[in-house]
Amino acid sequence: PYDGPSPEEVLDLRKQYVSPGIFHYYKKPIMIVEGKGQYLFDETGRRYLDGFGGIVTVSVGHCHPEVVAAANLQNETISHTTTIYLHPNIALYAKELAAKMPGDLKVCYFVNSGSEANDLAMLMARAYTGNYDAIALRNAYHGGSPSAMALTSHHTWKFNVPHSFGVQHARMPDIYRGPFGSDDPDAGKKYAADVEDLVRFGTSGRIAAFIAESIQGVGGTVVFPEGYLKHAYEHARAAGGLCIADEVQAGFGRTGTHFWGFETQGVIPDIVTMAKGIGNGCPLAAVVTTPEIAKTLATRIHFNTFGGNPVSMAQGRAVLRVIEKEGLQVNSLKIGARLTAGFHRLAEKHSLIGQVRGLGLMLGVELVKDRETKEPARDECAAVFERCKELGLLIGKGGLLGNVLRIKPPMCITEADADFMLEVIDESLASV
Ligand code: PMP
Repeated sequence: PYDGPSPEEVLDLRKQYVSPGIFHYYKKPIMIVEGKGQYLFDETGRRYLDGFGGIVTVSVGHCHPEVVAAANLQNETISHTTTIYLHPNIALYAKELAAKMPGDLKVCYFVNSGSEANDLAMLMARAYTGNYDAIALRNAYHGGSPSAMALTSHHTWKFNVPHSFGVQHARMPDIYRGPFGSDDPDAGKKYAADVEDLVRFGTSGRIAAFIAESIQGVGGTVVFPEGYLKHAYEHARAAGGLCIADEVQAGFGRTGTHFWGFETQGVIPDIVTMAKGIGNGCPLAAVVTTPEIAKTLATRIHFNTFGGNPVSMAQGRAVLRVIEKEGLQVNSLKIGARLTAGFHRLAEKHSLIGQVRGLGLMLGVELVKDRETKEPARDECAAVFERCKELGLLIGKGGLLGNVLRIKPPMCITEADADFMLEVIDESLASV
């Protein structure tokens, strides 16, 4: 049993000694001291179903035995040298990761966080094209480092310092709240026209990059209409830009139908960034690009002390093996479909539900006070979220308006877990 400091003591220590900017999710914060598969345990041993996977990070399940064993073995053998010496893990993992990519996306760079990956992708695009301007999307989240913060488009995450120089944000392709809805077969093309407009009105006509999450995560699981990325990529490429897909949340089989989120839109990017689920919880992130683009970064030294360390590489390799061996992409499809059908049933019963959206196990339920006006039900969302915790389910919430329940569990969840989740959310919706 747990015999460390109490949650109150930990909270006190955090208040005194840890960044005051970090937030805890619940009115009365919970402390998690153990995890196993899709379950989390607090200091009293109470079990919760994890519907959020440490913000979409725990892809194959908490403390997966094969992943833990791979990391432990590597830690005991040699944990760190940097890439100044050869080590097989980085070479083998790069080959295995590249094998998962379509087209000519075959060269891997390893870093330690999603922000770093996006920083590097932007550097690459700017160095390769010789252009500076970039286009990102409104409602995007790409990280908190200075150049990633520039790409991020949520006032909540942007500090009042000059950060967005050279970045413009295109209209968010949101068929629920935007001008072109699900009844418009050309919605994707129409939203993408804003990328062309930004190129024409806001840049020299030449850009370095267009970057988009394949499904907006922090922004509340916004799935783009069909054809959006295809048209946006065409506009970006016509202006000399590279297309960057941020797969930090949508990648690694989570969408169910495809291994990568961008594949659901039928495009092939020039650069792909990934983090979170890639390592099932270790600080591992990557940028994958083509040999041609990669050459540009060889004109100077690009070095990263921890990037590609043998332990993260061992863990990344194990994650890929487990996704394959346990059929987790197929499971995402199956359980995702069960949850989606369940949420649609709940929507018939609870008028609070404005829209159910998402692919596979990357789902969002947007809550509104009124289906006509779509007035965001922010307080109700917070109340549902709290009630779920009391009933033993941890989920996420997000969206610019703070009214979207985000469901992104470890990909190993079962049908029984999904049914429990639906029951809990049903009861929580009824209680507000
Ligand atoms: N891109 C996306 C889509 C993300 O969701 C996040 C993190 N929420 C990041 C980038 C940044 O990742 P990190 O926090 O590891 O820097």
